[in-house]
Amino acid sequence: MIYLVGGGPGDPDLLTVKALRVLRSADVVLYDRLISAEVLACVNPRAEFVDVGKEEGQQCEVQRRIVPLLIEYSRRYRSVVRLKSGDPMVFARGGEELAELIEAGCDVEVVPGISSALAAPELAGIPLTYRGVARSFAIVTGHGREGVLQDWSAYAGVDTLIVLMGVGHRRAIAEALIRAGRPADQPVAFIERASTPTERRVYGTLAEAGSLDVEAPAVWVIGEVVALAAGARTEAAARSRVGG
Ligand code: SAH
Repeated sequence: MIYLVGGGPGDPDLLTVKALRVLRSADVVLYDRLISAEVLACVNPRAEFVDVGKEEGQQCEVQRRIVPLLIEYSRRYRSVVRLKSGDPMVFARGGEELAELIEAGCDVEVVPGISSALAAPELAGIPLTYRGVARSFAIVTGHGREGVLQDWSAYAGVDTLIVLMGVGHRRAIAEALIRAGRPADQPVAFIERASTPTERRVYGTLAEAGSLDVEAPAVWVIGEVVALAAGARTEAAARSRVGG
């Protein structure tokens, strides 16, 4: 059996019970760059560990090798785990890998995980929906050419916008969203390395997003719900006291 497993945002306590069970009985684990050491420590120590982490620039090359590798391992081992950060079907090529494995006649099971798109804002106390404030949310990629070229006007009216892989293009994306009609003073939050010991949160407005000091990987949340988080309120209050 090949399992496509969501490893959650980083904290092993946020693995599902099923993910933990599958990791503990894995014979081989192929894991991504964002998988934390703490989650890897949950894997059967006798398993074979295969790092298929993709560096910027060689994604396509590495991605092409993954499915053939999974098929090869499934002939040698009983339990093959493809471990992805967050949820395996959210910007993780889980859908593509699933389709190719089924096509090849493999037995595959998907083990959903807690996506960073949900975990990062929630751990920061930011609700995605809130009665009277937000009745919709969207999760969108800010990566690569698409990040800059895609039609951001489609997201102008979504109450809460969650951007993954958006740190690099944050200035262009913020400008496009403001042009498309999102208020420039709408609150935003960047949550870096959510659920890990080095988690960091940065707050500001959409107009400020391009000049905030942020490091990837981070989840970028845009919307009035950000103002409901205690940290955001404190920072905004502090800024208004110093007149910044
Ligand atoms: N499948 C993953 C997303 C993979 S795309 C999921 O569901 O979470 C990689 C992007 O996810 C990063 O660029 C970043 O935007 C986000 N990300 C993943 N883990 C994160 C974490 N612990 N903290 C903040 N952002 C994270």
